[in-house]
Amino acid sequence: MNRPRILIPGIIRERVVERLKDAFDIVRIDSADPALVARSEAAAVSGVAVSGRLDAAMIAHLPALEIISSFGVGYDGVDVSAAAERGIVVTNTPDVLNDEVADTAIGLLLNTVRRLPQAETWLREGRWQRDGAFPLSPLSLRGRKAGIYGLGRIGMAIARRLEGFGLDIAYHTRQPREGVPYTYHSSLTALAQAVDILIAIVPKTPETHRTINADVLKALGSNGVLINVGRGWTVDESALVAALKNGVIAAAGLDVFYDEPNVPDGLLDLPNVSLLPHVASASVATRDAMADLVVDNLIAWFDRGQALTPVPETPFTRKSG
Ligand code: NDP
Repeated sequence: MNRPRILIPGIIRERVVERLKDAFDIVRIDSADPALVARSEAAAVSGVAVSGRLDAAMIAHLPALEIISSFGVGYDGVDVSAAAERGIVVTNTPDVLNDEVADTAIGLLLNTVRRLPQAETWLREGRWQRDGAFPLSPLSLRGRKAGIYGLGRIGMAIARRLEGFGLDIAYHTRQPREGVPYTYHSSLTALAQAVDILIAIVPKTPETHRTINADVLKALGSNGVLINVGRGWTVDESALVAALKNGVIAAAGLDVFYDEPNVPDGLLDLPNVSLLPHVASASVATRDAMADLVVDNLIAWFDRGQALTPVPETPFTRKSG
């Protein structure tokens, strides 16, 4: 029997490629561009392993496509509606990165509030010896209330960590989550009003676009700290720069940006921000676990007709065995 043919457009973790080679025929192209796969070759592709974008045109170019295995828990780069219309299953890599991303969120929060990266720079530049002690951080975690925008898999892992810090916790989601001890707010503004740390960990969807806007930042208040480890899409960056400049909020820590890898100068110029280059899940161990799930989804689909972690929009099983 012919081995299923898997297309890999663009860059993906090499572990994915190495493992896929054992079970499948692999076709690699530089990017997800239909012009890079001849029609005859495209007709034989039944699976895709992708990290990043896969648009409707590329999906349309693959007539025998059954499954798109996407690297990462956020799958906003894949045109899921185009896949769903054709009964193509899309899979992501949930859960295996929860703890890593939550750890990073806490690290970013501490960096932002206690200015630890600036303190290290002070030491490395010899200023401790030359100028004495690093200035006291104007902000502290003590006595704060934390609000989590998106209490899903990762939001819960962040909340559990914040409990250990002794902070009060509240959250906003569209539906209250059953069985959690945290205070629910039915709107983002009400959550921002009630807390002085706002941690965003929602997916990129039409509904979450620039929801952290001038009004929400005003509600967060002059002692407020914004942390975003979800998607840059969720924040109105111009409003954020203005709020940080004018003391509408106190500080922000960001792992994600609206137009990555471009970070606005307005943010880079500010002293009261801590910035990371989208590294929340970026350890070897966690990226390996994500790579394995990309591969295991494809194996499960072609061996048993059922993907391990299909996204909710494509709850399909395999039609032909
Ligand atoms: P989940 O699907 O488990 O959780 C998403 C949460 O967001 C749910 O609580 C959901 O609740 C809430 N939510 C969704 N839409 C809205 C909305 N319009 N308004 C309010 N709340 C909303 O996802 P994960 O926790 O696994 O991941 C979350 C996101 O984090 C990913 O989609 C990804 O974009 C991002 N991420 C970023 C990483 C990084 O490297 N910085 C790494 C990993 C993930 P409800 O449905 O009730 O509204």
